[in-house]
Amino acid sequence: MTEHADGLKRYSVVVIGGGAGGTSVAARLRRLNPALDMVVIEPAEYHYYQPGWTLVGGGQFSAERTRRRVRDCIPASIEVIAERVESFDPERNALLLSSGATLNYRLLVVAAGIQLDWDAIEGLTETLGRNGVTSNYRYDLAPYTWQCIQAFRGGSALFTQPPMPIKCAGAPQKILYLAADYFKQHGISADLRFFTPGATMFGVPFYAQALDQVMAQYGASALFGHRLVKVDGPAKTAYFEFVANGNTTLQTVPFDLLHVVPPQSAPTFIKRSPLADAAGWIEVDKNTLQHKRYANIFGLGDCTSTPNSKTAAAVKNQMPVVVANVMRALTGQGAEAHYDGYASCPLTTSSRRVMLAEFCYDGVVQTSFPGDSRAPRRIFWWLKKTFLPFLYWRVVMQGRLWPIVHKPRAVPEALPPIEP
Ligand SMILES: Cc1cc2nc3c(=O)[nH]c(=O)nc-3n(C[C@H](O)[C@H](O)[C@H](O)COP(=O)(O)OP(=O)(O)OC[C@H]3O[C@@H](n4cnc5c(N)ncnc54)[C@H](O)[C@@H]3O)c2cc1C
Repeated sequence: MTEHADGLKRYSVVVIGGGAGGTSVAARLRRLNPALDMVVIEPAEYHYYQPGWTLVGGGQFSAERTRRRVRDCIPASIEVIAERVESFDPERNALLLSSGATLNYRLLVVAAGIQLDWDAIEGLTETLGRNGVTSNYRYDLAPYTWQCIQAFRGGSALFTQPPMPIKCAGAPQKILYLAADYFKQHGISADLRFFTPGATMFGVPFYAQALDQVMAQYGASALFGHRLVKVDGPAKTAYFEFVANGNTTLQTVPFDLLHVVPPQSAPTFIKRSPLADAAGWIEVDKNTLQHKRYANIFGLGDCTSTPNSKTAAAVKNQMPVVVANVMRALTGQGAEAHYDGYASCPLTTSSRRVMLAEFCYDGVVQTSFPGDSRAPRRIFWWLKKTFLPFLYWRVVMQGRLWPIVHKPRAVPEALPPIEP
């Protein structure tokens, strides 16, 4: 860092966000160049392993295992500024922080995640964590999901999905399967319903059909074209807008348990910045992850315009691309790296098996393991519960690389036997 006479600080690389994308990029850059002057800007005290929250809600993992202090996750030699970025001035390579201070950068990496718009659903904030209304999308609420599942004595259990894009598009239904499995094992009769504004269970048709089978095996119904708009916690009633043939109606549904996934959007400070595309996301090239209008800015993770599924699995494969292209911009050396849109979604079809959905841009299925990936497998449960947390904390967040092995594989058109 260079400090100018006027007190302005200038860094070679500034990273916004100390979550999955920011931490992994900073750690990798530090490995490649120990002398690089770099700073991470992260206002939160904790870094969360959010993929673990589905398991917390399903009673399979403790919440404590999913969080670590930001300062403990980022190499000690990297400065961390515990502030929010308020705004960007890309013409001057400058950022404004919440303290009012300004920073200058040579290269900027933006990994600020996605915003959860809880208040977009009337009455939700007031009742979250009470009246059987819960969400795995918050660290403090995921344990309440498990309490609600255990306390459920039968009746109506509703699970909602908001309009896309959201982080981990599979998470709204994963918890339905974990709850359904628990109820089945305990002989509890439940009217299980999944409400989504979409028209299928999953954005990739290859997996959607297999998930229809999983739903059928639990006797759960999917209600397409439905969007949650209001919750009355004390009256245990959810309100949905249902759109069919251009007509919108309001439906009232009583519940005993309601798992809500909130609507999501680009963080407000990005939406209103010159870095955003029309929808508010950091506008990067989907292959190089370099900003389309500002060549010294890169983006990764949930806050960008890339049309991949927003997951930590995507971050794992975006990180080496951003790092290679940042190093290239710094040194003028090395080949341009490209991201192929890879993401994976371990769908917990029960508390024993996982369907490991893997795909690249345009929903092209490419998998890391032989066999038909639509079949839920026990080994993938182990992968989800044991291996992936290790891969996250010990490999990717420490700036290490893991081999990328996904590829197209021939599988029969007919569905394999689906045993959740
Ligand atoms: C319930 C749930 C289940 C999931 N399951 C899976 C799964 O099974 N598999 C999978 O691969 N992914 C899963 N995900 C998604 C995964 O967690 C995210 O895609 C991943 O964390 C994205 O990384 P990121 O760096 O973009 O964002 P994050 O990890 O969210 O980090 C963003 C960081 O930016 C910081 N920030 C925000 N605003 C500012 C600002 N103004 N200035 C500076 N910093 C700021 C935030 O404090 C945060 O620390 C799941 C997520 C949830 C919630």
